[in-house]
Amino acid sequence: MSRAPAVTMRLRVDPVACEGVGLCAQVAGRVVELDRWGYPVIEAELDARGVKAAQRAVRACPRRAMWLEEADTLR
Ligand code: SF4
Repeated sequence: MSRAPAVTMRLRVDPVACEGVGLCAQVAGRVVELDRWGYPVIEAELDARGVKAAQRAVRACPRRAMWLEEADTLR
């Protein structure tokens, strides 16, 4: 019997729209860190708490440069 692939969420950033202000890391430091120039570095795999944090980051971004999308993974 085969199992359906699990659906996980992934946080994405548009590097053109992002201005490196860093609000995303302030509200969601669990899943977003800033590089030395202030641009976000994102946790690759989000667990349930990570998804909540990522939703906060998406809402906080003044440039609408972040979004969540589904990422299929094989388990
Ligand atoms: S809040 Fe938005 S614009 Fe600011 S660093 Fe994060 S993704 Fe970039």
